[in-house]
Amino acid sequence: MSLSSPSLDTLFTWIRTESPTHDRAGVNMMMDLVVAQMQDAPVAVERVAGGQGLGDVLVLRAGPQTSAPGVLVMSHLDTVHPVGTVEAELPLRVEGDRLYGPGIYDMKGGAWFALEAFKDVARRGSAARPMVFLVTPDEEIGSPITRPMIEELGRRSAAVLVTEPARDGGQIVTARKGVGRFDVHVEGRPAHAGSRHKDGRNAVYEAARQILAIEALTDYGRGITTTVGMVSGGTAVNTIPQHCRFPVDLRVETVADGEAVTAAILGLKPSSPDFRLTVTGGMNRPPYERSEATSRLFDNARSLAAEIGFDLVSAPRVGGGSDGNFTAALGIPTLDGLGIDGDGAHTLQEYGLISSIAPRQKLMTRLLETLC
Ligand SMILES: [Zn+2]
Repeated sequence: MSLSSPSLDTLFTWIRTESPTHDRAGVNMMMDLVVAQMQDAPVAVERVAGGQGLGDVLVLRAGPQTSAPGVLVMSHLDTVHPVGTVEAELPLRVEGDRLYGPGIYDMKGGAWFALEAFKDVARRGSAARPMVFLVTPDEEIGSPITRPMIEELGRRSAAVLVTEPARDGGQIVTARKGVGRFDVHVEGRPAHAGSRHKDGRNAVYEAARQILAIEALTDYGRGITTTVGMVSGGTAVNTIPQHCRFPVDLRVETVADGEAVTAAILGLKPSSPDFRLTVTGGMNRPPYERSEATSRLFDNARSLAAEIGFDLVSAPRVGGGSDGNFTAALGIPTLDGLGIDGDGAHTLQEYGLISSIAPRQKLMTRLLETLC
């Protein structure tokens, strides 16, 4: 099983087409490439304009036209890398088995070969069920415009396959933590740091107290983490700051923990009435807990992989959220991490393993042909 060089050329074009989430033109160029890829295949292409200044969404349909629940494949084509990354910090290059480039691992590699598998199965007419492929422009910012579509298509599906990157040596994903996001704004009272120190109420100092309380909600035993990764406040070194703002990242393993920690964060109180504290936010992606149906789907995939000639392993619950969280939370059997193997997601060392494409493309093909 090897990848022919024309295929690699196509993948090069995908990587050179930079598509950070907020670059609507770049993301739409990626959508154009997918439309072109499907052009001569028996695939119905629906293109939905993206709202909120984001790129378009593609819904591809193929396979038997029955009312039976289908198989839904989901890929996102937005990346976290700003335009210019491929020319500078992360040039497109092949080093041995490694293909380096922005978005190759997360997740253009997986999206590309899953679309190839989808097209081949459509052409052969060998799909076990109606097939739907949802290509999204907004995953990296929490899927604000596509979540309703993901949930609606998910509800009509017997199984969901997500092409996020594989983990540590090709492992797939059957459980993910839930993700919460919050914004905290502290307002104090400004004053001259020299002449009026006593009159000031330092918003940065108060934010520091609140951050200690928020970080203390971390409980590794229960898989709960809270992170304040950025802080901004103050206007000058000699001014008691009036404002301080910071975001909070929350990860949980269970719905109940998500609710409890959300309540604790939204319920934070200022240490004195001289401060005003405003907290907004909540759970963005619900936890993706491994259900019995997902376990059966995994066993199925595992035996298909064995027939192809590789051992499919499920990673322990992973911390990062994906669109698979939305469908798993609805009780739809969901397999994630079916994309390309490699490493370095969201970094300038991002690469995909070329040798992982052929077997994993074959696995996607067999899943589309046999899931019933
Ligand atoms: Zn991703």
